[in-house]
Amino acid sequence: MTTLQDLTTKALDRRAPTRDEAMAVLTDTHDVLDVVAAAGTVRRHFFGRRVKLNTIINMKSGMCPEDCTYCSQRLGSTSEILKYSWISPEEAAETADRAAQAGAKRICLVASGRGPGQRDVRRIAETIEEIKAAQPDVEICACLGLLKDGQAEELRDAGVYAYSHNLNTNEDRYADICSTHTFTDRVETVGKATTAGMSSCSGAIFGMGESDEDVVALAFELLELDPDSVPINFLIPMEGTPLSEDWTLTPERCLRILALYRFFFPDVEVRLAGGREIHLRGQQTLALHLANSIFLGDYLTSEGQTGDEDRRMITDAGFTIEGTDEQTLPDQRHDLVAIRRRGTGTELPSNA
Ligand code: SF4
Repeated sequence: MTTLQDLTTKALDRRAPTRDEAMAVLTDTHDVLDVVAAAGTVRRHFFGRRVKLNTIINMKSGMCPEDCTYCSQRLGSTSEILKYSWISPEEAAETADRAAQAGAKRICLVASGRGPGQRDVRRIAETIEEIKAAQPDVEICACLGLLKDGQAEELRDAGVYAYSHNLNTNEDRYADICSTHTFTDRVETVGKATTAGMSSCSGAIFGMGESDEDVVALAFELLELDPDSVPINFLIPMEGTPLSEDWTLTPERCLRILALYRFFFPDVEVRLAGGREIHLRGQQTLALHLANSIFLGDYLTSEGQTGDEDRRMITDAGFTIEGTDEQTLPDQRHDLVAIRRRGTGTELPSNA
């Protein structure tokens, strides 16, 4: 039988677990504290005790024509969430400025909807200009839905550093959680972002009735995308959505999932995202031994722990907040991304 020490050794060598090894992490084959300790070794090897802070700015809230069952902004949602159209670049910049002063290194500009129109891409460009005027060092991530051909390049040229588009659940179950777009649509958008040269961010939502096999299948599917960042969300069962009664997660289940994704993505930003407070509860600090990145404060449509509580939690647990002058990903992942210095726009031929 594979031991946790074997799994740790593989992860330090950046080799993924096998399906059987992955299943053992999710079941009670190993005690949960032993699992956390083993995956925590991997986390510390690649990321030390740094925690990167990210902030979400919901640029446009609610009124989405898509029907993702987990989402309070979906078509037919009766959730009593804030609904508004695009906020101004100035308002977004003020929020980003406050977040950066509170320690956020990445600002995630998110908008509801199937995907951006050309006017929306221009709005994002103007917003980035405003944000960067006051906070030139923050990383800008955009999360705007499905991208049409050419839009990834436009967003990149507008100053978007990373594009976020979660797979959310594995391919076999995708039609159970959404009927208005497909798993393949999502994979293609992540591919467009990566091809355009943006850092890719793609992750999951757990707590939607998935089996252990589904959790493992999604890890393998995400691995194929080779993302730089993998957000792990735990379902926030909002009143007014089809999944409002789905309170199935336990702190132990969340910790095992986070540990598994650390084994799959040892040198990648594993980001603890929505739902951490309500599902991990008193075990959030243990989760910091697995994830190297968290969202600060509030989420898209629900409130989270306060920034002060987050910062205290991080320092009390012996971690430090990552500064803008610190590199997030280890050197070897940076080395994988070679800025193009040949072909169009240079004196050199392309490698075609
Ligand atoms: S997840 Fe995005 S695309 Fe799906 S309903 Fe919510 S806002 Fe719309």
